[in-house]
Amino acid sequence: MEEKHPFVRDIFPDLVAELSALLADEGEHDLAVRVRDIRLVGECDCGDDFCQSLRTAHHPPGEPFGEGRRCVELSPSTGMLLLDVVDERIMYVEVLDRPPMPRRAAER
Ligand SMILES: [Zn+2]
Repeated sequence: MEEKHPFVRDIFPDLVAELSALLADEGEHDLAVRVRDIRLVGECDCGDDFCQSLRTAHHPPGEPFGEGRRCVELSPSTGMLLLDVVDERIMYVEVLDRPPMPRRAAER
């Protein structure tokens, strides 16, 4: 199932490179590796101009992530990048107040 979703790195390579570097800066070396293999399950549809958040795992929208969740806040040069991580799995990448991300076309 999940293999049908494209890798985020194939669509937003710049974002993944930045996330990986920022995670390494935070000492999150496991996540810095793991972020290269996250898949784009969906994009946030809140419609806010400042929001380009990405869903990277299947999770019912609006439901709490529950125990084992932690939020990893990064320090990008512009805007905000946060990861929602559950049991060391990256569930959601919050991309806020960032310039529009260059997008590489997904292969069909
Ligand atoms: Zn949003």
